[in-house]
This record gives sequence, structure tokens and C-alpha cells, in this order.
Amino acid sequence: MTTSQLKSTPSDIRINNIQAIFDLLFPTEQMSRAELGRRVGLSRMAISDVVKEMTENHLLREVGIDSRKGRGKRSVVLAIDTNYWRTISLDISQQNSEQFTVRGALTDLCGRIVERVEVPSDTEGTISPKMVLSVCEKLLHISDRPVLGIGVAIPGVVNDEGTVVRSVILGWSSEPLRADIEKKLGIPATVGNDTNMALIAERYFGDCSANSMFVKINQGVGSAVCVNDEIVQGHVFAAGEIGHVVIDPNGPQCICGKRGCLEMLLSAPKLRARVAANPERRTQILGEAGQQLGRALSMPIGLLDLSDISVFGPPEIVGEAFLGSMREELDADIVTDYRTPPRLHRCQQGEDVALRGQAVSVIRTFVATTRQSADTGATSDTATNTPVSTATEAHKK
Ligand SMILES: [Zn+2]
Repeated sequence: MTTSQLKSTPSDIRINNIQAIFDLLFPTEQMSRAELGRRVGLSRMAISDVVKEMTENHLLREVGIDSRKGRGKRSVVLAIDTNYWRTISLDISQQNSEQFTVRGALTDLCGRIVERVEVPSDTEGTISPKMVLSVCEKLLHISDRPVLGIGVAIPGVVNDEGTVVRSVILGWSSEPLRADIEKKLGIPATVGNDTNMALIAERYFGDCSANSMFVKINQGVGSAVCVNDEIVQGHVFAAGEIGHVVIDPNGPQCICGKRGCLEMLLSAPKLRARVAANPERRTQILGEAGQQLGRALSMPIGLLDLSDISVFGPPEIVGEAFLGSMREELDADIVTDYRTPPRLHRCQQGEDVALRGQAVSVIRTFVATTRQSADTGATSDTATNTPVSTATEAHKK
């Protein structure tokens, strides 16, 4: 993902260089200084300086000698340092029927989960911002390393200040979650939409390209869109929120007041109910549902010229009957002599998908702010002005 929002000042150039080097190595690549310099476009001296700063800040470490054959002298190779920093990542979009769970994890700088905490919703089946804070606190307490940042994936609309504008499913409105976390714990935080985070995980650890769509079928139906490697946020940060877009004006009445919203026809509970009422028509019901989703999405996919669609959902729903019909519909609707069929596949990442994507988002948001030096003014666009190293060293045990 790019950082094109950054304006160009000398400190931004420094941030961009750190970000570019980190990106080349993330999550598990290894390269020499010379190769990094060539790829980023920096002189030998300049790349040495940036790498020195990054190793001092425990973002990179030397992992060995390049043993490839060749006449030149063998060089030291670098990789991401996974032994120092941790991130705290939370996902509160996981539901088993009416019950929510707060899933939290500590990850290393490659986004690998090293520790987990799970807390079920309270007796009324709800999750409060307070519960989210206490899970963050618990993970901070468990961590034996400094924490780079905290990220929370929310099933709802989140603005660029990290305020949850609205989450119908959690019953939250205007919750300044990022500000609350930073105030309480003194660690930079970021809050994202769960489907956007899942798309990020699919981009880094799964199987999708820089122009892709992620569709999540669960209690509701949501999506996320990535164009030229940037997540589309939209006018009111609600891009991808397709659950309450009407696809059948004569369809069933929805709780939102409209008729035939996508969610009324294609959410997991609705499809399960239809299959339970007619188990012998299971394949047909799921096939029709796949076709319906394909038809609804063919316009945005064609409009944005997307190449990959990843569908996440319960295996008994998002199976071959569903995906086969969806694929057929997309091919029929989109393919022309200048456009090949988009690649449609089931997301294979399991329940950690949003959690891992959120960890990547934390790493990418805060990696360039981990300075040990005292100069100021170079925080990322969503970070606080608190130098991360100072804020987190206090929590180091
Ligand atoms: Zn609706």
C-alpha cells in the first residue's frame, strides 16, 4: 500500500525511504544493502545511513551472508527484526450466532501472532469500548517487548480520526476509540474497518493483487476495495458497505426501512434459514445466491477494472455451488474481447484474517515513527505526536 498522502518535506523523504525499505523486506524477504539501495534508488552512502537507523531502531537486523555464487565480495543480508517490537491487534467482528468475541493478539513485526487473548461479550451479548480497552491493557501487560502500536478492527464505518462513526451490529455511534486508547494507554493506535483489514491480510499473506475486492459473508455482507494498491475509503468512509444497497426492490422488508437489501438476501443467517426450510434444494439455493452476488458486483468490478475477488464466509455457504455460479455470472457480465475474467476465489486465511490485516496496518502506520533520536515532526499521517519509542519504552518490562 502506498503512502501518497504524505507531502514532500525532508523528514517525509526519510519516512518514505524507511517505508520503502521495510516494504521490500516485509514480511520475510532478505536483501543486501546494495540490492536495497538499487531497488529504492539510493546511493551507497544514503542506503547505509537509512539501514543504520533502521537497525538501531530494531526494525531490521543482519541475518547472514549472501552465499550466492559470484565474483564480487559476499555481502551481509538484512531482514525484518522480529525479536524486538510487538504490535497489539484486535478484531471484534467475530460472531458465533448472537455472541461476539473480542479477539486480541500480540504479533511480531512480520505480523505473526505470538500470543492470544479472547474475551466473550458481556451477559447482554454486547461489546463496549471499555471491554476493548481492557483487552488492549491485558495484552500490553502480557508483552515482554515494547509495543509499536495498537490496532482495532471494527465491523462498521470508521473515519480517518479513528472514530467509529457507526457500527449497527455493535450498536456504537461516534465512539472516539483511537483517542480513548491513546489517552488511556499512551501508545499510538489506529482503528480500521474489519473488511478493509481482511483485504490487507489477503494482499500481504494471501492471494490477491493491487486491484481487488474482498467480500465477507457473515451476519451481514460487507466488502472492501483496493485500487492501485490503496484501500478505497469513500466520501463518508463507507466504501464497501454494500449490505444495505437494494438489489431487489420487490424483495423482503429490511430493518433499515428499505426492501431487498443485499444483506436481506445473502447474509449467512438468511441463506442458512432458506436451506433449512428446503434442504433438498441446497445446491440450487446457494447457486442462485452466488449468481445474485455476481450480478450485483459485476458493475463495480467492471467499473473499477478489478482483477481479483476474494470471498470470505462460512464453508457450508461459500462453497463450490455458490462460487461456481458467481464465477459464471461475473464471466458472462464482465468479459469482453479486451477484458479477461476476474479471478474469483475463496479466502483461505481462516478466522485470523482481520486480526492479521490489522497487525499489518499497525506496522505500516507506525514503522517509520520508531525513532530513538529526539528530533520531532515526522510522525505518520495517522500517528500521534508522541514519539513511539518514548511512549512504548515505558511499557517495556
Ligand atoms: Zn437494509
